Amino acid sequence: MPIRQELHSPNVPVRIWTDDIDEGSKAQLANIASLPFVHHHVAAMPDVHLGIGATIGSVIATHQAIIPAAVGVDIGCGMVAARLSLTANDIDEKRLRKVFDQITRDVPVGRAQHDDNRVLVEAVRPFEPGLKALTERHPQLLKTFGKFSRWANQMGTLGGGNHFIEVCLDEANQVWVMLHSGSRGIGNAIASYFIELARKDMARHMIQLPDRDLAYFREGSEYFADYVEAVHWAQAYAMANRQAMLDLVLAGLARHLPAFSVTTEAVNCHHNYVAREHHFGADVWVTRKGAIRAGQGDLGIVPGSMGACSYIVRGKGNPESFCSSAHGAGRRMSRTAATKRFTEADLARQTEGVICRKDKGVVDEIPGAYKDIDEVMANQRDLTEILHTLKQVVCVKG
Ligand code: 5GP
Ligand code: MN
Ligand code: MN
Repeated sequence: MPIRQELHSPNVPVRIWTDDIDEGSKAQLANIASLPFVHHHVAAMPDVHLGIGATIGSVIATHQAIIPAAVGVDIGCGMVAARLSLTANDIDEKRLRKVFDQITRDVPVGRAQHDDNRVLVEAVRPFEPGLKALTERHPQLLKTFGKFSRWANQMGTLGGGNHFIEVCLDEANQVWVMLHSGSRGIGNAIASYFIELARKDMARHMIQLPDRDLAYFREGSEYFADYVEAVHWAQAYAMANRQAMLDLVLAGLARHLPAFSVTTEAVNCHHNYVAREHHFGADVWVTRKGAIRAGQGDLGIVPGSMGACSYIVRGKGNPESFCSSAHGAGRRMSRTAATKRFTEADLARQTEGVICRKDKGVVDEIPGAYKDIDEVMANQRDLTEILHTLKQVVCVKG
């Protein structure tokens, strides 16, 4: 379905790919559209829902300015997926239980990190000089972060919340590994630090905003170049983090499953990030907050929930969405609401056939707390083509 709704504003319009949108999200989108440096229109993807400052599922193209809170606190959060030369015949429940335990041992989740980053030294090395340079210029950057070396021990770690690692089967019974994570504590420290600087910048220049979380840096202003450098550092770190975990998971799988190879280029895509791109006749900054790039031929990943299908997609390069698409199903209700409404028994029912935690601690991640992924996919037929439909058999939550 093409664009479902258009909101008009004095500056640029908002184009929305769903009818399922609440008033709060509409107000947020209108606030963004009112900023004078927004280019052409604001695009809201089919999984749009309320965020901080900027709506999750929004694409914001800007002239000579970036809103750090729109990029978000998990800079470079995204997904990686790879197909293996194994089929459903190579896996059985007993093996998959071993795989679940192995992943749990090899990849730290929640607040945990690697005790020792010797295994990941190659992954960590390229990032050290960049971070050193940044923290020399901004000694306050790590003030709430703790020991400098922590960023290195967090490489190859999942983090909490709805970050996850899955083993899936596709429509042809082929095995895939897929995972969701971002730039961990260091990305959060960088984001929080610069969001605060942007707020101070607004106050200093007496700029009135419709929402304080839309504080921005103007190109040429004191911190703009450092923010761009920091955000690129964190985005690259997030991508390397996903690759490092994928490598750990594949090594773990190799211990319990028949010999295999990886039969696709790993698809590794951010869904919270900013990039320099060309749209509607101008070079602009494009912020995708809970959206993936879906340029003509681009491969992407749209996950559903811990009990629903996920999709490997190919972008159609629709200029109206700034070559973007949805990044998931999107939440239907808050974590608190989900915990009140659902029980452990509901979780067990909704994740039947999936080897995963089914205890109280993950009830807030129950599939029923997310929107219907198939509706999202139907709403974005003009944005992406479905290449593969994945259903998890193992899910390790953060
Ligand atoms: P976000 O990056 O905005 O936090 O969420 C990404 C998307 O991942 C959610 O909108 C949801 O659709 C999806 N998701 C959340 N948990 C899981 C999970 O355990 N497995 C899969 N396959 N998808 C999930
Ligand atoms: Mn994240
Ligand atoms: Mn994410």
